[in-house]
Amino acid sequence: MVDHGPRVGDRVALTFDADMTDGMLNNLRTGRVKSYANLRILDRLEREQVPATFFLTGKWVQRYPDLTRRIAGNPRFELANHTYGHLAFTGDCYDLPRVAAGGMTEDVARTFRVIEPYGGRQTRYFRFPGLCHDEAALDALAPLGVTVVDGDVVSGDPFATAWKPIVRAVLEHVRPGSVVIMHVTEANAAMTDEALPYILAGLRERGLVPAPLSEVLAAA
Ligand SMILES: [Zn+2]
Repeated sequence: MVDHGPRVGDRVALTFDADMTDGMLNNLRTGRVKSYANLRILDRLEREQVPATFFLTGKWVQRYPDLTRRIAGNPRFELANHTYGHLAFTGDCYDLPRVAAGGMTEDVARTFRVIEPYGGRQTRYFRFPGLCHDEAALDALAPLGVTVVDGDVVSGDPFATAWKPIVRAVLEHVRPGSVVIMHVTEANAAMTDEALPYILAGLRERGLVPAPLSEVLAAA
C-alpha cells in the first residue's frame, strides 16, 4: 500500500478516478445526467501533453469504450483499477452499497479482465472506492498482486460547486512524490476541468512536473 512516492526530485502523479455505479448508469439511461466522462479534462491533458493515471471502474469502461481506447492510446496515460462497480469494500463507506461477501477478489480480477484488452500502459495499481479498506479487504486482494494506491493529496473535487477550493487543496499539499486524487466523472465532479489549468500552472510555479504514477512511485 502506498500514498505517495519518494519525496525527492520534482515528479508528482495526477490521478483521475472514473467511478461508475448502477445508480449512475441509471441516471444516464433516464437522461437525468448527461455525462460521467469529462472530455475537457482529457482534451487539456492531451493538448498540453500532461501525463496522468486513470483509475477505471469496469462499468465506466463498458459505458465509455471509445474514451477508454483514447486513454489507452495515449503513451503518457496509465490505466489502473478502481473496482468493477464502485461498491464499498468495508461496512461503512460513504453510503456506497457493499460488495458481496467473498466477492472482493473476483470484483477486482474481473475489472482487470475488462480493462486489459484495451492495452496501452496497463498497471497493477488499485484504488478502493472512497479509499475505504480494512485488513479483510487487503487480504482479499493479496492474490492479485496489486499495489493499493490511495494518494496524499485529496483534491476534494467530488460534488464541488466551485473550482478555487480544489486548486487550493491541491497546491497547498502537493510536494515531490505526491499522488493527487481527482475525478474524471463530470456530473459528479463538475469543477475539476475548470480547476485543472490553475493546478497545472501552480505545479509549474513550484517546479513540480506531472509524471505517470509508475514513474513517481519508482523515483527512489
Ligand atoms: Zn471512486
